[in-house]
Amino acid sequence: MKSVAEEYEALEVIGKGSYGIVRKLRSKSTGEILVRKEIEYTSMNTLERNQLISELRILRELNHPNIVKYYSHEHIPERKSIHIYMEYCDGGDLAQIITNFRSNKESVPEEFIWQVLVQTLFALHRCHYGIDAQKVDLFSGTTNDSEPDINSETVVIHRDIKPDNIFILNSGKTVKLGDFGLAKMITSQNDFAKTYVGTPYYMSPEVLMDQPYSPVCDIWSLGCVLFELCTLRPPFQAKTHLSLQSKIKEGSIPALPESYSSQLRSIIRSCITVDPELRPSCYELLEALSVRFLRKEME
Ligand code: ADP
Ligand code: MG
Repeated sequence: MKSVAEEYEALEVIGKGSYGIVRKLRSKSTGEILVRKEIEYTSMNTLERNQLISELRILRELNHPNIVKYYSHEHIPERKSIHIYMEYCDGGDLAQIITNFRSNKESVPEEFIWQVLVQTLFALHRCHYGIDAQKVDLFSGTTNDSEPDINSETVVIHRDIKPDNIFILNSGKTVKLGDFGLAKMITSQNDFAKTYVGTPYYMSPEVLMDQPYSPVCDIWSLGCVLFELCTLRPPFQAKTHLSLQSKIKEGSIPALPESYSSQLRSIIRSCITVDPELRPSCYELLEALSVRFLRKEME
């Protein structure tokens, strides 16, 4: 039998991740293009290996049109590597798009920012309101009975929403959330984990202060991404980690350009609310947005 790797022709490397590379592939039989995340686990400690297992379990369960599709994974013991096969996003990630707009001195069209908002909220809705994840054995792809059961109450918090992890397809029409490398599955309300290693620019105040956090930490980060799409700069910037921390805790952001609608600006401001209790949930935002779209349709 042909191995998974033999089925594909390796094309160019399109990204560099924290533990390896992301490579484009072409299927020899169908010509289909996909990507392979090649992860070397030798440099990983136990915690990081467990996080990788968690990423795979989450990916396998999160079947959603706005989440980068996972196909399969393979363990290559002789190379101490795990290969994850995934859907290819031909429009790249939002970080690349922001860089392009900045170097062309152009602003991002408002309609595209709405698309990022709505489609990322659809993806987060899938994550925040319960998945039914099954057990997976990292090294064989089969069920492992020694792992704890995960029930349908399981909630996924992405924890690393940032421009590099939001992908684009279909010439900007489709937005997909990817890179669940830091995502956390939570089975009960009081189990909210306290360890976090995400990018500080987009990190919510409660995560930063090591307080218990909930799914709305993703809403904060999404607000920061949307802010950056409007201004081409992240809302909180500083030379040192300490001064970045104090800016995030204070939560005051520069004014958004008036060229964007007051509706869009007010949603972005509401996402960047310091108190997580006062910050809107994914559900509340989608509800508010459906009212907007209904009004638009009725006009
Ligand atoms: P890491 O966890 O190491 O950050 P990512 O999954 O974010 O790994 O991948 C790193 C980079 O590789 C991304 O920022 C992006 O540029 C590229 N990339 C990853 N997955 C895809 C994909 N499915 N389609 C297109 N580009 C991708
Ligand atoms: Mg990434």
